[in-house]
Amino acid sequence: MITHQEVNLLTNYTAREGVAISFFLNTDGSERNKGMWDIETKDMLKNARKELENLNVNRKYLEAAEENLKRIQKFISMENLAPKYKSVAIFVNSVENFYQIYWLPVPVKSRLVIDKNFYVRPLLALLEEHFRIGIILVDSRNARLFEAYMGEMLEHLDFAAKTKNPKKPLLETFMKREKRLMQKKVEETRFHLSSVAGLLKTHFACRHFDKLIIGAHKPIGDHLARLLHRKLHDNLIGIFEIDIHAKENDILLKALAAEREFELEEENKLLRKISNEIEKDGYAVKGIKSVIEAEHDYNIHTLAVAEDFSQLGLVCPQCGMPHFEGKTCTCCGEELVQVSDVVYDIVEEAARQGATVQHIRGEYLIPSLGNVAAMTKFKKGELVRTEEAAETEA
Ligand SMILES: [Zn+2]
Repeated sequence: MITHQEVNLLTNYTAREGVAISFFLNTDGSERNKGMWDIETKDMLKNARKELENLNVNRKYLEAAEENLKRIQKFISMENLAPKYKSVAIFVNSVENFYQIYWLPVPVKSRLVIDKNFYVRPLLALLEEHFRIGIILVDSRNARLFEAYMGEMLEHLDFAAKTKNPKKPLLETFMKREKRLMQKKVEETRFHLSSVAGLLKTHFACRHFDKLIIGAHKPIGDHLARLLHRKLHDNLIGIFEIDIHAKENDILLKALAAEREFELEEENKLLRKISNEIEKDGYAVKGIKSVIEAEHDYNIHTLAVAEDFSQLGLVCPQCGMPHFEGKTCTCCGEELVQVSDVVYDIVEEAARQGATVQHIRGEYLIPSLGNVAAMTKFKKGELVRTEEAAETEA
């Protein structure tokens, strides 16, 4: 599972020596097969070798790059590409001992990029869309924290150890012994839960998760929810019944169901909002042509796209801007190239511009919106008026 820290490391990486090779292969089994992946990989490597020849790199780095390309080819031809995953990403620069493989449960566009930096644009688009979920399991004395991301899960084993044991001395009272014990138990539970809430706040700040789900028996779960830090409470998306010793797979299934329910609600909210705006010619556009135009204007606030939607299109090889028609890029003038699925480029560009991206899995409304639609930052005409104002100023 790729962590937030690892993505940061990749994003900030610059090769001081050698070249950074970023390789993405779409291994989505539903429409493709291993033979195709091998051929596609070979083609990408061939182009990469040509590119390396044209680049002005010294012999030592060139040899290292060739080794890296061979390593990628070997990996792809040997690997029994797990059907659970839909793409694989490899980042390599052997001169600086960098080699990372990530299996991704979502499809990305196949490509190979040679540069001083790693090409992380598809990863950032993924990050933008998929949130990490913290799953906290609690009972009156123990706690376990899991991090789930794009269908995978890991346990933060240090969490259980860090929850403090109650040390607070209790006041002696005249109550009967049993009553006193009962009160002690209640206080200990409250102390335990508030210490769990405190620890969760720290993990949230480290970006171990963006949304939280609580798994506990009643009423412990509700108690913990009330003790959460306000910001964390705002990101609580569900509470479910589960035993603290439950198997990992059962925990993941319950968490995914809670996440799905939350997402469906969010999807419906967004699509209703877009439809309302379109009806009154407000802050939304629908259909691939209008959405691409809005991207050219840096005018996407939130992008909604049907999960299985794909469409032929054009893209600028220089700046990556998707196009619906034309010969040259409207942004940088470079000659456009055809791509079999321009939707990937629309998603990546939206993420690059800082828009929120939401893939719509439910059926609701998306066909009537042309399978892709967006909330915009400006409505039609607003941008023109801004430019007129600037001209008057001049
Ligand atoms: Zn361009």
